[in-house]
Amino acid sequence: MRIEIGCNICSHDNSEENSSFVRYSRLCSVRDDGIYEFECPEGHRSTTVLLTPKHEVLFLIASNALLDGYLREAIASFAASLERFYEFVIRVICRSKSISQQDVEKCWKSVSKQSERQLGAFTILWFVEMGDPPDSLSNKMVELRNQVIHQGKVPSYEECIIFGKAVINVISPIERKMLDKFPDTHKDECFALSRSVRENHNQRLAMLSIDSPLSAAIQENTDLEISLEGLRLHRKILGMPSIASELMRATTVRHVPKEP
Ligand SMILES: [Zn+2]
Repeated sequence: MRIEIGCNICSHDNSEENSSFVRYSRLCSVRDDGIYEFECPEGHRSTTVLLTPKHEVLFLIASNALLDGYLREAIASFAASLERFYEFVIRVICRSKSISQQDVEKCWKSVSKQSERQLGAFTILWFVEMGDPPDSLSNKMVELRNQVIHQGKVPSYEECIIFGKAVINVISPIERKMLDKFPDTHKDECFALSRSVRENHNQRLAMLSIDSPLSAAIQENTDLEISLEGLRLHRKILGMPSIASELMRATTVRHVPKEP
């Protein structure tokens, strides 16, 4: 997946004086650190920080993989989105208890390399905090994920949709309850990266948020397939074809005359 990073300075310097101006941007691969440096042809250097939480970025990567036809990768990223969501919840709850980031990092180290430990930590923490055990993926969905990730299974498009919806159904109720109970610490956790980048950068920072089918499902109950249709249209505007729609090819094949 690629995201569009624009020159923040061109837009800022020209927005009021002129009725139109050129705004430079480029398509970049998603970076793990969420920090995008860009120098436009006018020589403006800008830094853009992606505010969208990692689990939402991964959900969007999965959705794009699906439209690109990379079905194994779609399931792998949907599954990673759920795992990073568990981490996000743990961090939000720790923030709400005013636990120092240093102590959180020290504790996270002991579970960071094993997803089963993270799931256990999340489940108990959520239960203690909210009084109800959280929903989790059904055995059938866990089996599908394991077959794809560990046994090389190539899932069908339909299986990817079912799996993506299952991930949404686990995340949505938890995210809604968390927004209700911890609105401030939820926001704090989202802005944590931009705060730390600001401390180390003197120049002006641009903030970027991207929408994902996951946030549309949480906020507006939008069905995954409807969101994918919207994403398909957005990709079309950017000149990126998607499977099952624009990849029909017509090629003229010329017969080479056989030698007598
Ligand atoms: Zn510029």
